[in-house]
Amino acid sequence: MALTPDEFHQHALAATDAERRLPLSRMTMWEISPFEQDGLRVTPLRPPVTPEPPRHGEDPATCGICGKRDEGVWFNERWRLARVSGVGVPLVLMLYPRDHYDLAELPDEMAAEMGLLSTRIVRHMQAVPHIARAHLYRFGDGAAHLHLWFFGRPEGQAQLWGSWLPVWDDLLPEYPAGPADADAALVADALVASSGGSRTPQGLTTR
Ligand SMILES: [Zn+2]
Repeated sequence: MALTPDEFHQHALAATDAERRLPLSRMTMWEISPFEQDGLRVTPLRPPVTPEPPRHGEDPATCGICGKRDEGVWFNERWRLARVSGVGVPLVLMLYPRDHYDLAELPDEMAAEMGLLSTRIVRHMQAVPHIARAHLYRFGDGAAHLHLWFFGRPEGQAQLWGSWLPVWDDLLPEYPAGPADADAALVADALVASSGGSRTPQGLTTR
C-alpha cells in the first residue's frame, strides 16, 4: 500500500525550506530545460485534497468528449483520431474511444486494438517528413474519458527532446494550421491503409 495522503505530504514537506518550497528539480539541471535555474523557484507545497474533485465527464451524460464522437480525421466503430489545434509542435493527435471508457475500464479486445492503433499512429507520424519522433502520453486527471496524446517532435530541434516536450510545446508560438492539417491527413490516410476504418464517421455502425 502506498503512503496515505497525509504521510506522503509529510514525507515531501521534510525536503522543503521554510516557505515549503522544494529544491529545484533535477530536470532543471538538464541542458535541454526550457528554464534557466537562476531566478526560478518552486511553488510552495499545498496540503492534500481529499476526496479529490470530480474530473470532467465523470458522468457520461455530461461528458463533452462523448458529445464529439463524430469529430476527427479517422474513425472506426470503436475509436476516433483527432488533431489537437492551438499547439506549438508540428502535430498533436488524440486517440479516443468513441464510447465512454477510461483506461482501466477498457474491455480486453479494445485494449488490444488500442495497442495496435497506437503503434501504427506512431509509425505513421514518424513517416511524415520533418517529424523526427512521435511521443505517446496518457494522463487522465482532467477528463474521465480516455484520451491518448501523440506529440510529434520537430526534426532537429535538439532542445525539444524527451519529457520537457509538453512544456516546450506550451511555450512555442502556435504552429500553422495548414501544414498541421495536411500532415494529420497523411497520418489518417496511412491509418486507413494499415488498419481499416474511414476518414469520416459516415457509414460506420455504432456499438
Ligand atoms: Zn465520455
